[in-house]
Amino acid sequence: MTIFEKIIAREIPSTVIFEDANFIAFEDINPKAPVHVLVVPKRVTARLDEITDALEVGALFQTAIRVARESLGLQDYRLAVNVGAGAGQVVFHTHVHILGGWADRSADAHHDEIGHP
Ligand code: AMP
Repeated sequence: MTIFEKIIAREIPSTVIFEDANFIAFEDINPKAPVHVLVVPKRVTARLDEITDALEVGALFQTAIRVARESLGLQDYRLAVNVGAGAGQVVFHTHVHILGGWADRSADAHHDEIGHP
């Protein structure tokens, strides 16, 4: 059983952001950005390239987009998937990282224009 299955089963705690019949989204325990959430399919596969059904891959990404926009209120964000140990995958239960919440770069540019720090 992967650590993410234990989170789905509520055997270990997590901060759940979103859940439906097929997916769960929860905060990453070791955030790499001001907002860092993992979107995890409940159907267990080890890595993204094991999912052969295009609709299932699409549903995973559509869910990640919905969580980013609707649950987290992010306009700009990064979706990332590590596929395999060589790419940095550590938990072998397919998941999408949502990263965001950095200062708005266009706002920074505007501040420079008008002389704010
Ligand atoms: P990856 O490197 O793509 O396999 O990402 C695995 C992610 O899972 C890492 O960013 C970890 O910080 C995160 N993680 C590991 N254990 C937990 C946990 N118990 N709760 C939340 N996130 C976790």
